Amino acid sequence: MTRLTAAWRRLRLGTQLSLALGALALVVFGLVGAVTVSLLHQYLSARLSEQLGTVLTQYKTTGQISVSPGKIGHGGDQPEHDPPIGMQFELRPGSNNLVATGPSQVDLHALLPLVQRSLLGGPVHPEQEITVNGSTYRFTAAPFTNQLGQRKIAVVGLSESDTEATIRRLIMVDLVTFAVALIVLVVAGQQVLRRGLRPLADMASTANTIASTDLTAKSVDLSVRAKGEGGGVEVEELRSAFNVMVDHIDTSLVARSAAEQRLRQFVADASHELRTPLTSIRGYADLFAYAAANEPAERERHLARMREEAGRMSLLLDDLLLLARLDAAEAPLRPEPVDLVEIAVAAADGFQAARPDHPFTLEVEPATLPMVGDPMRLRQVLDNLLTNAAVHTDPGTPVALRLRTEPGWAVVDVADAGVGISPENQAKVFDRFFRVDDSRTRGSGGTGLGLSVVHSLVTAHGGAVSLRSQPGTTVFTVRFPLSAGQV
Ligand code: ADP
Repeated sequence: MTRLTAAWRRLRLGTQLSLALGALALVVFGLVGAVTVSLLHQYLSARLSEQLGTVLTQYKTTGQISVSPGKIGHGGDQPEHDPPIGMQFELRPGSNNLVATGPSQVDLHALLPLVQRSLLGGPVHPEQEITVNGSTYRFTAAPFTNQLGQRKIAVVGLSESDTEATIRRLIMVDLVTFAVALIVLVVAGQQVLRRGLRPLADMASTANTIASTDLTAKSVDLSVRAKGEGGGVEVEELRSAFNVMVDHIDTSLVARSAAEQRLRQFVADASHELRTPLTSIRGYADLFAYAAANEPAERERHLARMREEAGRMSLLLDDLLLLARLDAAEAPLRPEPVDLVEIAVAAADGFQAARPDHPFTLEVEPATLPMVGDPMRLRQVLDNLLTNAAVHTDPGTPVALRLRTEPGWAVVDVADAGVGISPENQAKVFDRFFRVDDSRTRGSGGTGLGLSVVHSLVTAHGGAVSLRSQPGTTVFTVRFPLSAGQV
């Protein structure tokens, strides 16, 4: 049984459906056949009874049976070898003996029950079937009085062979017709179903192609899609859902490989950037060791440079760690209700103290700008932008910090009147480790991460940073969302 179930499961869906259709048709054909055969049998049997009645009446009056063609049986041709039989039984007066006259091949004893039943009378002629010469005959009987006034019992019989032959023919015709219909149904049904299910088969083969693709490979080609048309609404829906799913996989694979590429680049750049201060520290350590023995006066200078490089390294590591946490959405922020104006004023004070050679202006439009954010990180954003405005411009270049509002947003502009950033570099300045003039900025202590940190922190606060720059004006604009109802 389980082997049969397993074999059934291995069949194609089209074959399964057509076989099920065949089985259903078999049941329907069987029912139709049984009903038609039984109806025909009833009809022919009723006709034979009717004819028996007619023949009996005729025999009682004439003592003869003349069967006209078309009267007997279904086809109307009572066969020669199964002629109608007529007999008379006579009840001898004064005795209980029955004397019968009739064809010798009829077993008269077998007819006695019928004769007795006819004597009991009744509205309907009794009937009895017996075999005569190998054929089934149906007999009926009725008492009557002949012209001579004698009481007799007329017994007539008609062969059922014609009825049986007709039924047999119908069964044969039914069987042949149904068998042919069944074969046509199964074979044609299989073809039609197979064609109808072809879109599904196509989809399955596309899915197989995708399944056999190595998705972990470096470059994955996922351009295959389920093609074709038609197959009905359900198949259309399935096909488009399938293709959308493959699109999603494709997009996420592309995104994943881009992210992996970025990560590889980031790790490579970070290692490179860390190696620079490390090399310097090692060099200064050697110099320190030499100076300790030979030029004690130089020792302090080398130690100071070593501290400076270690500081740079620590800043770099802080930035790297912050970016990694922001990337991993670990939320290293500690948000609380803050006033952006207060933070901006503190940043401005710090800038003025640290960069006295840059003329500075602070323009604050609103008296307060309450928002929710991490005060330390917001200060870091402003510090990074202000430091850039000082570091990447010549001394004496004016720098401005402006605070304003736009509907729903707190806006901070950090502007300077420096040489600006060329249009092709404007798109790249937020990239990690990007520096416009590598040699120049590296010396100035920039890590190339300042603007990346600004971008990540502003995004983590739900805001956005943009840049407009041309020679003489460079403006970094940061927008933070204000809580609803503010502005
Ligand atoms: P860095 O540590 O080098 O400052 P950033 O990510 O902060 O790194 O900036 C990337 C690059 O963008 C800088 O190296 C510099 O060339 C350029 N840049 C940033 N701010 C300014 C500015 N205000 N004026 C001109 N160039 C700038």
